[in-house]
Amino acid sequence: MKKRIILVQKLLKQAGLYNDSIDGIIGKNSRKAFAAINEIDASWSDNRKVNGAIQYFAKKNGLEIGPIDGWWRPDTEDAFNQLSHLMDTGSMPKPWRPEDIEDVNPNNWPRQYSPEFDAFYGAPGENLVTITFPYAMKLTWPPYQKVTRTSCHPKVKESLERILVKVLDTYGLDAIGELGLDKFSGCFNKRQVRGGTKWSMHSWGIALDFDQGRNKLDWGRDRAVFAKPEYVKWWEIWEAEGWLSLGRQRNFDWMHVQAAKL
Ligand SMILES: [Zn+2]
Repeated sequence: MKKRIILVQKLLKQAGLYNDSIDGIIGKNSRKAFAAINEIDASWSDNRKVNGAIQYFAKKNGLEIGPIDGWWRPDTEDAFNQLSHLMDTGSMPKPWRPEDIEDVNPNNWPRQYSPEFDAFYGAPGENLVTITFPYAMKLTWPPYQKVTRTSCHPKVKESLERILVKVLDTYGLDAIGELGLDKFSGCFNKRQVRGGTKWSMHSWGIALDFDQGRNKLDWGRDRAVFAKPEYVKWWEIWEAEGWLSLGRQRNFDWMHVQAAKL
């Protein structure tokens, strides 16, 4: 809630309705500012007013938002993220346009489920090597132990090493930890696609999942943390090596990245 209050105080200040400190605490001046906004009902609790103010400023900034009712909905959370970006950088985040992602393929990854794919990678689960990570990861399931190695297909190993070294150089260990880029949810796993009959890309050890808990399979960019602006660099590092993010391309399964095109 404190983060929401801070954002709202900044927005109120910018609108000339608040001239006190940005301290994340609702005091009498924050309440006075809420009272000056007609759309915010005087009978609401402080927290509901904060949510209502986010919805109000979302509408003012032309964002798509439902009713200004003070309830925290997915569209309110999305508005919170977009308005935070606006206050931090001075501009709105770019809209999601997968067609703008530069489609490079320096390693000639094949298209998934194609004859070229079978020729390139062979049978699922037959060809694996061990890769050592340049920084320790933590498994996202109990007992959440540290992992420094995993199994992958030999054809993706060097590319994967280059990517993780680049991630380390770009973000550094602290940011990797803060953003959950070291929350490892698996690579090789011979199994069928959830709800389907085809082999998952994990069956060849050419796909990795990260931070599964905050990037659930059916979550879109309104909920998945890997859709946030601070992860754009992360995805660009993968994409520069030709890897594909289902989140960036299809807006689901944001945990997943694979060395195969769609
Ligand atoms: Zn996956």
